[in-house]
Amino acid sequence: MPVLMGGDKVGGIRLESLLGKEPMSANSPALNSIIRLENVSKMYQEGSVQALNDVSLRIDEGEYVCITGPSGCGKTTLLNMMGALDLPSQGKVFFRNELLSPQTDLDRLRSREIGFVFQSFYLLPNLTAAENIQIPMMEGPWKSSERIARARQLLEDMGLGDREKHLPSQLSIGQQQRVAIARSLANHPKVLLADEPTGNLDSESGQEVISLLNRLRDQQRLTLIMITHDPILAANAPRVVRMKDGRIVQNQP
Ligand code: ADP
Ligand code: MG
Repeated sequence: MPVLMGGDKVGGIRLESLLGKEPMSANSPALNSIIRLENVSKMYQEGSVQALNDVSLRIDEGEYVCITGPSGCGKTTLLNMMGALDLPSQGKVFFRNELLSPQTDLDRLRSREIGFVFQSFYLLPNLTAAENIQIPMMEGPWKSSERIARARQLLEDMGLGDREKHLPSQLSIGQQQRVAIARSLANHPKVLLADEPTGNLDSESGQEVISLLNRLRDQQRLTLIMITHDPILAANAPRVVRMKDGRIVQNQP
């Protein structure tokens, strides 16, 4: 069997890249990247506000990345680009190597691939926990019995099996966030984007939510991208992206 050496190519791809030994830049062709931003800028208000300034970033499948930085530095805008909630003013965003453009069906991409968790949970107050979880499944190919079974399973996974019929107002804030996480997982997304998910929680329910997210990541090979102000959380993440004034100032594996 021929021995491959460093610098050799396999199918046109350098050996080091295949073996994952070479930290690929945001611009190199990505084998298992799930989200890639190339020189992305985002302007608001006819260009008078520059929320992102020439940001390049690559996230691989299964990664856990914390995004941190002062208020107003562009964290949420960056997450919106990664979650196909919005398109950049300049630069390119790829999801699994597909370039996102005004022609891309962003709704479809989001509903199939991406789960969102927010600081304010955005549960509908008149619907029960189980009904809230089923909302993202309304558009999909699910039968109502399948939706109900999936919601029940997710509630159990969140440790809320006995809260199916509770309204949000009948749940603690920590439980409400867990229902929101269950809802974000309804369509089996591969990527979970969380914007300060513990921002409204006390430290104990915050801890619960974080361990829950970590468990989900392990079990389901979820890619987890989380904005946080919590220095301890960021310090414990395997990779931290630090932003300032619309730019990435640290990107540490
Ligand atoms: P962060 O999440 O880090 O607090 P944001 O991404 O929300 O920061 O905002 C970055 C900058 O862009 C801020 O100056 C903010 O005021 C501005 N901005 C964000 N969204 C909008 C918008 N929809 N319209 C106008 N300006 C916006
Ligand atoms: Mg924000």
